[in-house]
Amino acid sequence: MAVLHYDWLEGHANRVPDKTVWIDLHSNRSFTYSQANDRSNRLASHLQINCGIEKGDRVGVLAMNSTDMFEMQHACAKIGAIFLPLNWRLTVSELEFIINDAAPKIMIHDSQFNNEIAELKEKTSFKQSLETSGGGGDTPYEAAIRGAESKPAPVEVTHDDIWTIMYTSGTTGLPKGAINTYGMTFYNAVNMGFPMGFTPDAVALTILPLFHTGGLNCYSSVALYVGGTTLVMRAFDPAECLRLIDDADVGLSHFFGVPANYLFMSQHPDFVTTDFSRLVCAGIGGAPTPVPLLETYEARGIALQQGYGMTETSPTVLVQDAAMATGKPGSTGKLAMNTQVRVVGEDGEDVAQGETGELWVKGPNITPGYWNRPEANAETITDGWLHTGDACRMDEEGHYYIVDRWKDMYISGGENVYPAEVESILFKMEGIADIAIIGVADDRWDEVGCAVVVKSPDSDISAEDLLLFCQDKLARFKIPKHVLFMDELPRNATGKVLKRVLKEDIGDLR
Ligand code: ATP
Ligand code: MG
Repeated sequence: MAVLHYDWLEGHANRVPDKTVWIDLHSNRSFTYSQANDRSNRLASHLQINCGIEKGDRVGVLAMNSTDMFEMQHACAKIGAIFLPLNWRLTVSELEFIINDAAPKIMIHDSQFNNEIAELKEKTSFKQSLETSGGGGDTPYEAAIRGAESKPAPVEVTHDDIWTIMYTSGTTGLPKGAINTYGMTFYNAVNMGFPMGFTPDAVALTILPLFHTGGLNCYSSVALYVGGTTLVMRAFDPAECLRLIDDADVGLSHFFGVPANYLFMSQHPDFVTTDFSRLVCAGIGGAPTPVPLLETYEARGIALQQGYGMTETSPTVLVQDAAMATGKPGSTGKLAMNTQVRVVGEDGEDVAQGETGELWVKGPNITPGYWNRPEANAETITDGWLHTGDACRMDEEGHYYIVDRWKDMYISGGENVYPAEVESILFKMEGIADIAIIGVADDRWDEVGCAVVVKSPDSDISAEDLLLFCQDKLARFKIPKHVLFMDELPRNATGKVLKRVLKEDIGDLR
């Protein structure tokens, strides 16, 4: 029998109505569970009664981070609609592709995207739109909430129904719509909640975009599930993050970022005076974490807790609890609860413990598939096992190490090179602010490494310095043969380096 989804917001609104659930840092608005539940109920009934949204219909959203997005997410749950948050950094033609793919019945959008929405309305099939400012005020969105019935007609939703379609980051190719069910989101809250030390006292800061699983589920949905509080930042601001972490009155307990967020915070002058001691958990994941970055934070008294996951896995698959965060540098932790993994070789068989293979995952937190992508589903899911595309190994104590993406690995003179390992070494070098290693074609070795370096301000390091630094730290085949300097690395909206863009930009170096 299908498990019914329980309305989390309504549940806490009954138990702790006056507790703060969301704080919008940009508009300075704060909502109690009772207020948030009322607004979500009204938005749900507006969508249901005035817009004709039924169970399974997609509600598209093109908006910057604000508490409005949480209201939309939970309003969708109340009527069984599918929440479809879109990346506002995409171009109109990229959005056109996604909107044609997911076919939302309505688009809720920030005023600043009025022109894009008008253009997309012409080019795609949605007929309705609802404008918000992401900050309250006299907008059609606020009027809709004020004018709506206080509750929608009840709709039964189960753990197998789709709550969200989130498009993957598009790091390696065209984004794919990863289906996230209610069950997946529930299991993620459970799987992430315990190792990360979530209690109803949790005060979490969300800085990553809410159209990405890193923003939506790390940790806002987890904080809500336990009845805690989430502060949402409109867009990542390193100085403001440090200020909030330091401020005793804010009382931040949980922070999540990708390595780039932590890197940029560590390069800010306020980093050395920030008091990290109140944080119960500083989580990091989403891309390979250079060990020197972990050490920089350890020196400030905070052990970053690594985790590994994907949009397709809601996202937690591997996770460190606080005790695991030291002593295993570079490990992304142990297997999360309610999750199974295999490390599989090219022959489709499990590799021996300690060997590197592709990580496959299965469990109630894993996507049933991509929206509208039968070929991608057939390619990436075998008997419920999702092939992650990531290279991984496990040590004798059950700690996992994500080595890198298979696609980013290159083969130099017959030897496999994982760029993340080389990057991690070079991050230790004085004068390097940011670095990416990519494999490029070579006549003699088939492929060789190219280091793309962003120098620290005032640094005058040269390519020769970098090669010299590598001499006694890396095997010859791992030492990059080319060094290029750039002002900044191309990154996507979640802060991941776009290596395919770098590759295109660099071209053939032979
Ligand atoms: P796309 O699938 O569209 O190319 P993407 O894979 O970057 O983009 P996400 O779902 O945001 O989309 O990211 C998941 C990927 O991020 C993982 O498959 C893995 O490559 C990487 N990743 C996540 N956590 C870690 C980690 N702790 N260490 C190393 N890599 C990680
Ligand atoms: Mg991916």
